Amino acid sequence: MELNLQSLNLPSDNERPSCVIAGPCSAETEEQVMTTALKLAAKGCHIFRAGVWKPRTKPGGFEGKGEEALPWMKRVKDETGMLTATEVATPEHVELALKYGIDILWVGARTSANPFAMQSLADSLQGVDIPVLVKNPVNPDLELWIGALQRINQAGIKRLGAIHRGFSSFDKKIYRNLPMWQIPIELRRRIPELPIICDPSHIGGRRDLIAPLCQQAMDLGFDGLIVESHCNPDEAWSDAKQQVSPEILDYILSLLVVRDEHTTTEGIRMLRSQIDELDNQLMELLAKRMRVCREIGTYKKEHNMTVLQASRYNEILEKRGAQASLCGLSPEFAAQVFEHIHEESVRQQLEIVNQ
Ligand code: PEP
Ligand code: MN
Repeated sequence: MELNLQSLNLPSDNERPSCVIAGPCSAETEEQVMTTALKLAAKGCHIFRAGVWKPRTKPGGFEGKGEEALPWMKRVKDETGMLTATEVATPEHVELALKYGIDILWVGARTSANPFAMQSLADSLQGVDIPVLVKNPVNPDLELWIGALQRINQAGIKRLGAIHRGFSSFDKKIYRNLPMWQIPIELRRRIPELPIICDPSHIGGRRDLIAPLCQQAMDLGFDGLIVESHCNPDEAWSDAKQQVSPEILDYILSLLVVRDEHTTTEGIRMLRSQIDELDNQLMELLAKRMRVCREIGTYKKEHNMTVLQASRYNEILEKRGAQASLCGLSPEFAAQVFEHIHEESVRQQLEIVNQ
């Protein structure tokens, strides 16, 4: 086990994904914070988020209100009963957040990418008992994400969770940050007991992507959502395009189909045994194919032929790509599968040729 964990134990609404954290990107004014919080609480939300210190890509943007905003968060807690959460990036942020009674801390994507910053945050959390959520680093590096979680865990924080907020990329055609779902899926496989929360706001960067991304997170068995919600989204001082009003958020959440990861029925067991049998056949076929490849390797050696024959390789990719379309598979998928198979054939033939 890579982490020593206890349950996050965050409040949840039975009808909703087990945990929903909602609130504005940034705490802007006391009025904006209170108006948003009261509306969210009225819709049944239990955890309020707001950024007090904002990491901005370039200088000159709104960098958050800092300590001035912390009493507003305290008011939210006192007047609505919601738990409060904010981002911390330095030991000073941790100290101030704790001083004003913030209930949950999260570490942002720019901070989790930096082991020095993570270690100094971890040091400042020694002896503190508070839930901490660690966003994925901006770069798609699972080990760096796990390392950031381990640093906080080694400081004694056991109520730990991960937030998937997507990964920076030059390609911003659809998403602000590419979801690359295979990364949080691999995190789940490696550390099954670690809760993973999806942040559709920073993945999508656009209001219309919030609902489908929330549903996708539910379909994949994520443990909760953190969504940016503002009383007047168009006027938000940061991330205006991706924020939704509390009313819209409530509507989005009401439409979500929440699925259960642990149910197994007779129906699914039968389908899975079919899959197991097919996988078995696939493996046997692959082994058979490799035996023929090795024979070809011997033949090539005897006849002094090169292992790689580019025209033959192209022929395989083209044939199988065309066949894929006819079988309802994507040609890109077929190309990837055959690239891997071919790579292994070449490796085995090289062994034979060099014996
Ligand atoms: C945020 O949650 O407002 C934020 C700054 O997120 P990220 O660290 O994912 O960019
Ligand atoms: Mn934001």
